[in-house]
Amino acid sequence: MLDNRLLEIIACPKCKGDLEYDRKNEKLLCHKCLLAYRIEDDIPIMLIEEAEPITEHR
Ligand SMILES: [Zn+2]
Repeated sequence: MLDNRLLEIIACPKCKGDLEYDRKNEKLLCHKCLLAYRIEDDIPIMLIEEAEPITEHR
């Protein structure tokens, strides 16, 4: 479980925008860049090259 204070200060490294915490998949989502940053051992991997593209079709 991620610390809420950490979530408040953390931002997308690409657009510096807010991230949404996906508790179910343990990922941080940037809906602007459509990137998902994974969390390993409660540490978010905030690297653009490590991020996965979000594939959500609405
Ligand atoms: Zn972004």
